[in-house]
Amino acid sequence: MSNDSDDPIPLSALQHWSYCPRQCGLIHQEQAFEDNVHTARGQAVHRLVDEPGYEMKAGVKVERSLPLWSERLGLIGKADLVEVHPDGGIFPVEFKHGRKRKKLHDDVQLAAQAMCLEEMLGRPVPSGAIYHASSHRRREVAITAELRKLVRETAEAIRSMLGSGRLPPPVSDGRCRECSLKEICQPEALSATDKTKSLRAHLFTTED
Ligand code: SF4
Repeated sequence: MSNDSDDPIPLSALQHWSYCPRQCGLIHQEQAFEDNVHTARGQAVHRLVDEPGYEMKAGVKVERSLPLWSERLGLIGKADLVEVHPDGGIFPVEFKHGRKRKKLHDDVQLAAQAMCLEEMLGRPVPSGAIYHASSHRRREVAITAELRKLVRETAEAIRSMLGSGRLPPPVSDGRCRECSLKEICQPEALSATDKTKSLRAHLFTTED
């Protein structure tokens, strides 16, 4: 199945692509999804913030489940939390299960949220945070020029994949162990097929 290349890309797709391009293709192109312990934990964490609304905490307006978009980047999605501080500062917070640990794919998703907020509100969003539910700790993330570039490149790569209708090859490394799509993806079987093809290709190669 291929998507219209003008359709906005879900923000979650950037996180999926940064984790594994094939995972992104299976979810956003083939519409495949399988729960495992990691996705179940993730869903439980997001239930804490998936009811839209807002509350005031020490002068800070905290918006939950705020819809986001960027016409410039062709992105759409939502932020788990967005804090609006008394000085006008905007601070997105993305909830993740697990302990406090730096993960580039989470940072890319957060940076994309920040870039959507900048376009929507016309104000700079220089930082945000990942809230790690298991350790109840925040990890502040600066929305650097490098992260912004990665967001633009990732959105382009996803758009190109969706336009081509082709699934990226499996990564076949440690990422597959925690991936809920392992059964559907069959990374070992595909790698074995690639090896067989390569052996066949060299079957009749003569040595000098
Ligand atoms: S099983 Fe591995 S290659 Fe397949 S989608 Fe998951 S992480 Fe990617």
